[in-house]
Amino acid sequence: MSAKIIDGNALAKQVRSEIATRTSALVAKGIKPGLAVLLVGEDPASQVYVRNKVKACEDVGMFSILERHSADLTEANLLKRIDELNKDPQIHGILVQLPLPKHIDSHRVIEAIAPEKDVDGFHVANAGALMIGAPLFRPCTPYGCMKMLESIDYPIRGARAVVIGASNIVGKPMAMLLLQAGATVTICNSKTKDLTAHTKEADILLVATGKPKMVTADMVKPGAVVIDVGINRLPDGKLCGDVDFDSVKEIAGAITPVPGGVGPMTITMLLLNTLEAAERI
Ligand code: NDP
Repeated sequence: MSAKIIDGNALAKQVRSEIATRTSALVAKGIKPGLAVLLVGEDPASQVYVRNKVKACEDVGMFSILERHSADLTEANLLKRIDELNKDPQIHGILVQLPLPKHIDSHRVIEAIAPEKDVDGFHVANAGALMIGAPLFRPCTPYGCMKMLESIDYPIRGARAVVIGASNIVGKPMAMLLLQAGATVTICNSKTKDLTAHTKEADILLVATGKPKMVTADMVKPGAVVIDVGINRLPDGKLCGDVDFDSVKEIAGAITPVPGGVGPMTITMLLLNTLEAAERI
């Protein structure tokens, strides 16, 4: 039996329409949620990401600015600009597109963003707050994955969840959110021995490794929910996830596609974080 496909585009559309309604209510009170997106350098993938983020803001009625800086921008000048945006009342969210050029310390840059404007949720204050269950912002990708589970009314409490990937932006915060929702969570990384023994136990399997199609049907428990965060470009130019969609969809209970799965939800949760930052004013 083929799995239920969790349609990220449809869910994103629905959540964005709710965001647009809340945004216009806030605008009526004289507060227009504002997002500043900073890009340093000419990385082609980053150019597409920032354009999509700014367009998504405009579509829901938010204010946004996109600043493109040349790759030789100094760290001091980037920090100065962040400081100005921290003080700018029109701006409620600040996002610095990663990766940054090598001469800039991205950790220092993220720490320079005021935690109450850190809509990516990467600042240590927000990562720490997430750890103790009181986050100001949840990182956008894991937050979007939680919304996808919510959208199918999945009973997370008591479920066995396995997260493959332990990055600070996806794997670790994802595990925290699942744990807080009552799942029993295992986090796997590239050193995990007998990965399949873990994944076979998973009621919820979340994959964020950057390894194209690494999760195959024999690694999945029948009926499991499989969330594929990976975005990989194949030699033929097509996109694929970290899950072998065609084989896994025959065994999973529900699965997210790539493209059209987690990707659209990530930008949507950025909008939600920006809106919530403005609502807190
Ligand atoms: P990172 O490279 O930062 O982390 C990858 C993680 O996967 C590491 O913890 C690594 O282990 C682990 N890993 C790698 N290979 C294996 C393996 N064979 N078995 C088990 N674990 C493995 O990646 P990100 O978390 O930043 O991104 C992961 C993927 O998600 C990428 O494809 C990225 O493009 C995509 N992505 C998609 C987003 C979206 O909006 N849909 C947003 C962000 C990312 P170790 O710690 O041991 O190195």
